Amino acid sequence: MLLTVLNSSLRSSLARLKGCSLHRRDFNLLFDSSLSLRDRHTAASMASLAVLPPERLKKPLAVPSRLLFGPGPSNCPPRILEAGAKPVIGHMHPEIFEIMDDIKSGIQYMFQTNNAVTLAVSGTGHTAMECAIFNSVEPGDSVVTAVNGIWGERAADMAERIGAKVNTIVAAPGRFLSNAEIEQVLAKHRPALFFLAHGESSTGVLHPLDGIGQLCHKYDCLFLVDSVASIGGAPLFMDQQEIDILYTGSQKVLNAPPGTAPISFSERACKKIFDRKTKPVSFFLDLKWLANYWGCDDKPSRVYHHTGPVTAFYSLRESLAVLAEEGLEKSWERHQDVAEYFHAGLENMGLKLFVKEKKARLPTVTTVVAPQGYDWKEITSFIMKTHNIEISGGLGPSVGLVLRVGLMGCNSSKSKVDMVLAALKDALRNCHENKL
Ligand code: PMP
Repeated sequence: MLLTVLNSSLRSSLARLKGCSLHRRDFNLLFDSSLSLRDRHTAASMASLAVLPPERLKKPLAVPSRLLFGPGPSNCPPRILEAGAKPVIGHMHPEIFEIMDDIKSGIQYMFQTNNAVTLAVSGTGHTAMECAIFNSVEPGDSVVTAVNGIWGERAADMAERIGAKVNTIVAAPGRFLSNAEIEQVLAKHRPALFFLAHGESSTGVLHPLDGIGQLCHKYDCLFLVDSVASIGGAPLFMDQQEIDILYTGSQKVLNAPPGTAPISFSERACKKIFDRKTKPVSFFLDLKWLANYWGCDDKPSRVYHHTGPVTAFYSLRESLAVLAEEGLEKSWERHQDVAEYFHAGLENMGLKLFVKEKKARLPTVTTVVAPQGYDWKEITSFIMKTHNIEISGGLGPSVGLVLRVGLMGCNSSKSKVDMVLAALKDALRNCHENKL
């Protein structure tokens, strides 16, 4: 019976293929009498596929183990990876809602906020950036972004794409803006939203935040802060500093895999967002939907919006638990101590720090002036090849000017600093000075 079915199906496959251009190997297989009928049937159905199963997928998955001391992602400790390897459950099961509630509390602690609308966007830091901007800005709104590296430029680009009138206030790379300069621009452009990167990972600047939220509110403007590179590594108090929208990523100090992005909205931000006249341009990032999926609204039940990346939520939950166990103050202190130890080591080697003012040095991502006479790309590839350590070059305005070293979360320790310093010394000995 089975044979009859296979035979007739083989005949119909052959009939279908008549007139099609067949790969010679597949054609020969169809008539190779040494093969079983089943194999010839498989050959027949494969011959109907224009794209064959890729040879490369037959090789086992290969992932090297590396020391990730660039600006991100950072290494994930086994506890966080193991959490992500637990069984998948449904994205609407009560157990995942419990885990999402744990995440919400963890983010509220990490951000130092009591905001009800606190959640994690399914996506990387850029997704949270777009979630913040697409929801809080309507076409025609005035927006000001502070540009002290690439993140202010990207925020301006996103706001422009949705029809906002965008102005920027620019600080020289490695510098930050004074509150007086910020007040001037707020008074001039009367923006609905002011964007600032707290930790500017492209230049290594930790921008002061005190007083800016209050200034924004004096001018009836929402204060949006990017803390992707700083949260957990430097003090930040969302409610006290009157930040209206704050977001971060999972892959830096939190040491979780990239792919989830914590975000929180003040009542002031929610009022503007939920009273807007037009729908946000993105369905996926629409805060009304997200707030419901995360149980942040007053609706009696949660409705399907998208399939939450449940295993990424497990890892994020565990990374927040690790931070809560250490305690925020301890984590800030550790990152600061380790950064100062690193900076002293760099200066002892005769290297220079890109950010001159000590208090404006980001404790998580250090920018080192690219050593004169060396090709920075040779240094980073030497360190990768010889020491299995990732460090990186500049980004945006700092390209060619700096090397960037990130020591975040579990990577923020004096022993890791010693490893980077040894690798840098080795690179300076072995790479070609004055080759440029
Ligand atoms: N903002 C800052 C300050 C960052 O450092 C990064 C990542 N380097 C982002 C935003 C964007 O995050 P992601 O790459 O996760 O989209």
